[in-house]
Amino acid sequence: MDKIVGVKGMNDLLPPQSAIWESVEQQVADVFRAYGYAAIRTPIVEPTALFIRGIGEVTDIVEKEMYSFTDALNGEQLTLRPENTAAVVRACIEHNLLYDGPRRLWYLGPMFRHERPQKGRYRQFHQFGVEALGYGQPAVDAEQLLMIWRLWETLGLSVADRPQLQLNSLGDLSERLAHRQALVDYFSAAKDRLDADSQRRLQTNPLRILDSKNPDMAELISGAPKLSSFLGQASRAHQDAVCQALTVAGVPFQMNDRLVRGLDYYNLTVFEWVTDRLGAQGTVCGGGRYDSLVEQMGGKPAPACGFAIGVERLIALLEEVAPVAPAPGVDVYLAHFGENSEPAALHAAEALRSQGLRVAMHSGAASIKSQMKKADGSGAWLAAIQGDDERQAGTMVIKALRGPDPSKAVQQTVSLAQAGMVAKQMIQEQRTHSGA
Ligand code: ATP
Ligand code: MG
Repeated sequence: MDKIVGVKGMNDLLPPQSAIWESVEQQVADVFRAYGYAAIRTPIVEPTALFIRGIGEVTDIVEKEMYSFTDALNGEQLTLRPENTAAVVRACIEHNLLYDGPRRLWYLGPMFRHERPQKGRYRQFHQFGVEALGYGQPAVDAEQLLMIWRLWETLGLSVADRPQLQLNSLGDLSERLAHRQALVDYFSAAKDRLDADSQRRLQTNPLRILDSKNPDMAELISGAPKLSSFLGQASRAHQDAVCQALTVAGVPFQMNDRLVRGLDYYNLTVFEWVTDRLGAQGTVCGGGRYDSLVEQMGGKPAPACGFAIGVERLIALLEEVAPVAPAPGVDVYLAHFGENSEPAALHAAEALRSQGLRVAMHSGAASIKSQMKKADGSGAWLAAIQGDDERQAGTMVIKALRGPDPSKAVQQTVSLAQAGMVAKQMIQEQRTHSGA
């Protein structure tokens, strides 16, 4: 039979890498919770109209990256979510979550974009994200940036290894419109130097031309009118407050007036955290303020601010700067031999688990030598061994696998009832020795 392979650009996550993901997920969730964010889970599939309205018609995502389809059973137009802000906003409006005040929400999950697969760019990828809805103050923008800074620290990134924060302000609508007109005038005068994409965007979304990565247009773009010179007093005060909070907290950042972000809903603060350790796909996190999105999606007006972190890129960065050794999946590998040894081994493994240990039991008949090899390869701290004698006596032998000198490995014979306590002590001794 032909074998069926997975969809291009959509990855399987396998052991032992999956253990790194679990550990990162745990640490990220802990940091979000430490700032009062509550988890929200929304479906992977939403009405296509949600993303067209939420993200904007003239964006890379809506123009060419969405997995959209018609539900063959009822004709609904559906899309695999390419990002989650629009969906979180939809859920908040639908369930009236903002009726008694603002909300801090976080999520984790797969997103789908039909892009050209390459390192750091996949068709199914994952994001951690947060949305603070109903908050208009610059302190919330700043708090999110401090939270991300703390996250880098929690994940063990030294200051030099952390992604760098780039910041910009997109001002308010009237400021953006004035800037837009200046851009149209500027780029219209140099129309022959624009590539096809940018010529089209000149009519539909000239701001996005600034986002172009075409090196032939770099010089033209760098001379374009800057949004920062169109900002009014209120927008400048908002930006100053964010910058000041960062400075006070000692979080380094750079202003980047070319940073416009690929989605339409942003205003005032926008930011990206960028690393130079991952080649072309260096943006690990992006976000900003979207004060009009809730109203635009049919809710009562509510200012908001959020960001998303690309999990694949984050983990690639962690592995690049400090290879993460996955923690052992189990504490004990249970080897057993003799006539019909499995039922008693099953029972012994259960006894160890009841005493709080993670146990992998050897399955099938094999020589003790090959079982001990398996025990070593499993990454477990200990091997527990049950042969005929131990089985009859209701005991097992526990052997340290990761002692300072394996040839002098410690081993003890213990009763099932004592096994958990002794095993934990032996693990602790090995941890102390290995510095883990
Ligand atoms: P890029 O400019 O790299 O295409 P983006 O602006 O489209 O990024 P956002 O929509 O801001 O990305 O998503 C937030 C984060 O999600 C990105 O900074 C990145 O880390 C991650 N991300 C986005 N698209 C992909 C993808 N196709 N594969 C893997 N990660 C992605
Ligand atoms: Mg993109």
